[in-house]
Amino acid sequence: MKKAGETFHRMVRKALSRFSARRAPAATAAALAGAILSMLPLTGRAQYPTSGRLFTLQQSGPVSNRLNVVIFSEGYTTNDLANHFLADATNAMDNLFSYEPYQEYQNYCNVYAIAVPSINSGSTHPYYLTTNNTFFGSSYDPAYDYIITLPATGLVKMTNLVNSLLPQAGLPVVLVNDVLDGGGGGVADVISRGAGQREILCHETGHTLGKLQDEYDYGYPDLNLNIVTAAANTSQTTNPISWSAWITNGTPIPTPVNTMPAGTVGLFAGANYQTTGWYRPQEDCMMRTLGSPFCAVCSEALVKAIGQKARVPDNGNPATNGIITFTNLQSQLFSIIEPQPLTHNLANQWTVNGTPASGATNLTFLFSPGQYTNGNYTLKVTVHDPTLLVRTDPSNYLGGSLTWKLSVNVYQLNLDNIRLTSAGGFTFRASGNAPYGFVIQGSSNLMNWQALATGSLSGGLYYFTNATATRGSYYYRARLQP
Ligand SMILES: [Zn+2]
Repeated sequence: MKKAGETFHRMVRKALSRFSARRAPAATAAALAGAILSMLPLTGRAQYPTSGRLFTLQQSGPVSNRLNVVIFSEGYTTNDLANHFLADATNAMDNLFSYEPYQEYQNYCNVYAIAVPSINSGSTHPYYLTTNNTFFGSSYDPAYDYIITLPATGLVKMTNLVNSLLPQAGLPVVLVNDVLDGGGGGVADVISRGAGQREILCHETGHTLGKLQDEYDYGYPDLNLNIVTAAANTSQTTNPISWSAWITNGTPIPTPVNTMPAGTVGLFAGANYQTTGWYRPQEDCMMRTLGSPFCAVCSEALVKAIGQKARVPDNGNPATNGIITFTNLQSQLFSIIEPQPLTHNLANQWTVNGTPASGATNLTFLFSPGQYTNGNYTLKVTVHDPTLLVRTDPSNYLGGSLTWKLSVNVYQLNLDNIRLTSAGGFTFRASGNAPYGFVIQGSSNLMNWQALATGSLSGGLYYFTNATATRGSYYYRARLQP
C-alpha cells in the first residue's frame, strides 16, 4: 500500500506541476445521459455504514471476465447519498462511456458504486481555507484549487473497501461531491462532479487504466520530474519507437509539427512536461489537451488494458473440464458466451484437431460424432478481435480460446462377408466397436427373434458360422450388449 501511495503522489506531483503553467481549458457540459436510478427512500446512517454499501450500476458479465469499475462516494453525507449519489455515479459512468475507446468496449465493463458516508458535504479547499470532514479526506490543491488528492490514509480506506466488497475491482474512481472541476489519476481516478467531469475523468482514466503519461509540455524545458521510464505513449529515443507499427514509411522522424496531415502518427517532440528529450505519437491527444480524441497509440493502450481485464470468451457450454465421451451418434451442441463491442463483431473459429471446421464461425458448433472415426479429439474455439484500434497485441489481450477434450467411442457393428462353406453352411463377419459384446439373433419373419450365439470382437472381428443350410429365407442380426 505504501508503494501504491507513493506512486499516486508522484502522479499528483506531476499533475500539480502541469497546472502551475497552464490551466485546463474550460470543459464542455457533462452529458447527463442515461437512466437516473430511483432515489433511495431511507436516509439513516444504518443504510450507509462506514463498512460501505455496494450497488450495481451495470452488469455485463462475470466479474472474473470484466473490467470492474468501482465508483466510491467521497464528501457525501447520508442525505447526499440518499438523494443523489447513485445518480451522480451513473452520470460519471455515462460520461466515461461517451468517449472513445471506452465507448466501444463498454460491454467489457461492469460498473459498481460503493457508498460510504462523510460528515460534511464536498471536499476540502485549502485555497479558501475551508476544511471538510470527509470519509477519504480528499483535498483540492492549495495553489490552484484544481487537483484533488487523497491522503495515504484515504488510499488505505479505499483499498480496504475494495478488499471487502469487490476484490476484482479494476478501475477505482473516487467521486468527489463537489461541483468545482478537478481531479487526479494514477492509482485511482479522483474526480469531482463538476461540469468538466467528462474530459477530466477520461483523461485521468488514461493514467489510471492505460498507465499513459501526459503528452504536454510547457513550452520550455523547465521541469525535471525524474521520469525515467517511458509509457506506451512516450519515447525518449528516435529508434526504436514502441509505436512503430503505427508509423507509415516515409514519415520524417522526428516529425515536425504543422507539416503533416491531421492524424498522422509519427514522433513529435514534447511530452512529459518537456519540450525536448521526450516524444509523443501525434500532434494532439487527450493526454495532451483535454477534450481532444485519444491518439491512435493511447487508444490502442487503453483497448488492450480493457481486454487484459475482460478476457474473451466468458465461458462455454458444456463445461470445458473433463472429457466428453460420445458412445452413440447423437450430436452435441457446443456454445460460448462473449462480450460484444459496440460497433463491430468478434471473429470466432471452431477447429477440430487444429483443422478449422468449415463455416464454424458463430457462437455455437454442432459436433456430430458420426462424422469422425473413433478416437480422441480436441475441439477448440478461438476468439479474435479484428478491431482497427489495435495493431500490436503480443500478449493477445484481445483474444482467447476455449478447449474441450472429446472421445468418440461409438458402439456399432457391421455384418458382411457372407460366404458359403464347403460343408454346405455359411459364415458372415461382424466388425466394428462393441466393447461389451453382442448377441447374434435369427428370425424367419423379422418379428420373432431368437438368440443364436453371444460373441465379442477379437482384433475388431468376429465370424459367425451356420454349419448347415437353412431352407427358405432367414434373417440374422447382431444386438449390442449395453
Ligand atoms: Zn496519446
